[in-house]
Amino acid sequence: QLDGSGCHFEVQPIIDSTNSELMRRVQSAEASNNSVLVAEMQQKGKGRRGRTWQSPFAANLYYSYYWRLDDGMHAAMGLSIAVGLAVYDSLKALYDLEVQLKWPNDVLVDGRKLAGVLVELDGTAEGPCHLVIGIGLNIAMPQAAAEHIDQPWCDLNEFAGELDKNQLVAVLTCFLQKRLAQYRQTGLQGMYQQWNRVHAFSGQCVELSSGTNTWRGICEGIDEQGAVVLRVDGQSKRYFGGEISLRVK
Ligand code: ATP
Repeated sequence: QLDGSGCHFEVQPIIDSTNSELMRRVQSAEASNNSVLVAEMQQKGKGRRGRTWQSPFAANLYYSYYWRLDDGMHAAMGLSIAVGLAVYDSLKALYDLEVQLKWPNDVLVDGRKLAGVLVELDGTAEGPCHLVIGIGLNIAMPQAAAEHIDQPWCDLNEFAGELDKNQLVAVLTCFLQKRLAQYRQTGLQGMYQQWNRVHAFSGQCVELSSGTNTWRGICEGIDEQGAVVLRVDGQSKRYFGGEISLRVK
């Protein structure tokens, strides 16, 4: 059932970052569970580890969703995998576009980045955990902003015809809710195989980097915890951690 019910939607013209604003509201108890904040432009759009997400005016989707989990932070491990699948579901349903997912948080078409996911959390090990799920999705990237993106990228304009942003927000929210409900019930158990089928670098040689360490191997996909699995010296090794980046070699 995809009805998007129980959601509060808000659209702002200009904001520093939809994730930052929603998290501020969460921390001051001003956000209701399952609320969505969308902006036309972000002045400080965020990627992981302090990187910038280019967010020019009226060009793309800048979307954040607040979700409260009552089972502690550990229950949120690997959540960006479920979110990536919700983006996959939405683009397939709306535009018959089949994207590839890159561990842990990118959405690609032919190796070019179409969207990014940024999950931020506030909470304790055992108590309630407040999750802000950010999705930046390119729709019609202006050239001036594109010049600041230092890796291959693409936008939906290339693949979809007439595009209705409101419809995109509604459908994305429905699929996100569906994936979150599934995640709450069974974690990634029923999802990781699906993710592996649309994985961008399956069977390819990749390098993982944590800033201080690097590891190389053949990428086998992810496991049911959302860890990435590499074949190194004939053995399967699992890597997990918010600070790790994956690059194809
Ligand atoms: P990682 O694999 O560690 O996630 P990443 O380079 O994909 O590395 P992110 O934090 O996911 O990093 O995203 C930020 C990066 O994405 C930026 O450094 C830039 O290279 C690129 N980028 C920034 N804005 C956009 C955009 N609107 N569309 C596509 N790519 C972007």
